Amino acid sequence: MTSDPVPIRFQTISRGDVLLVLPTVPDDAPEALKAAIAKRNGATLSGRCDCGATVILGRQGAIIEHEDACEASDVAIAAIVGRRLR
Ligand SMILES: [Zn+2]
Repeated sequence: MTSDPVPIRFQTISRGDVLLVLPTVPDDAPEALKAAIAKRNGATLSGRCDCGATVILGRQGAIIEHEDACEASDVAIAAIVGRRLR
């Protein structure tokens, strides 16, 4: 049995000369996903995550590489979304 994927949308925020594109999730998304996205967005906006990751601004935009154990990491978010898809 599968369910619909979580509809993640994006918002743009301008910071000086940089335009950030940040994900948003609906209110009815799993709490773990909402928390992960909030932490990820907070780290991107502040420039630092408590896992030690820092934002690097480059031609491709803002890049932040979270530790795999961080709840805001790609690995953690994929695990949350994967559980929801099963
Ligand atoms: Zn992190």
